[in-house]
Amino acid sequence: MKSTPRPLAQRQGIIFILSAPSGAGKTTLYHGLRELYPEITLSVSCTTRAPRRGEIRGRDYRFITARQFNALKRRDAFAEWAQVHDYFYGTPKRPLDQAVKAGRDILLDIDVQGARKIKRRYPDAVAVFVLPPSMGELKRRLSARGTDGKKIIERRLANARGEISELIKYDYYVVNRQVGEAVKTLSAIVEAERVRTSRARNWRLAPLRARPGDLQGSDEGR
Ligand code: 5GP
Repeated sequence: MKSTPRPLAQRQGIIFILSAPSGAGKTTLYHGLRELYPEITLSVSCTTRAPRRGEIRGRDYRFITARQFNALKRRDAFAEWAQVHDYFYGTPKRPLDQAVKAGRDILLDIDVQGARKIKRRYPDAVAVFVLPPSMGELKRRLSARGTDGKKIIERRLANARGEISELIKYDYYVVNRQVGEAVKTLSAIVEAERVRTSRARNWRLAPLRARPGDLQGSDEGR
């Protein structure tokens, strides 16, 4: 059996942030990325909104009351929190810190306010913004869901314009024209960030260092 080679260096876990306007297809990309990288931990946020059909407590969110949310806020249990639409959302701090410390990468699905706060608190975090191919396509996707009235769709579109203007503060953007292609771009981001030399600690370079004479003649005749 082939054994996994020891890594050449160690690093802390990377915080990957994924933000997108509602309807840009972030959830699909999130799951696509998760399929490719099952080892990436998913951060489970707390929210004061009610569960939607199909959502599972503890997997999609920790659904809590406003009172519980305030108590957690007072205890400084959130790495960031924000009000999104009419509800409160917060990223629990402890699992985030534990993942980073243990060298496990962690994925956060949070809005632009949260992304800004996380980047301030964890400057090595990687923020990715998912864009729809166009506003027209975003409108079409929001309408095709069939779950929201015209007024809500208009509000989401107005919010989307505001969120897209924050795009420049992100490290990367991914246009979700076609899911497979967008997941491929996300995967390229993950791979590149994992091999950033500035993240590496405790290098184990000795096995790679050439001894005198090792390289002599190796390139001859090429
Ligand atoms: P939804 O209610 O549709 O699941 O999420 C609404 C918005 O809240 C999405 O943009 C989602 O990314 C964002 N969100 C979810 N969890 C958090 C969180 O813990 N913090 C922040 N700032 N935003 C969150």
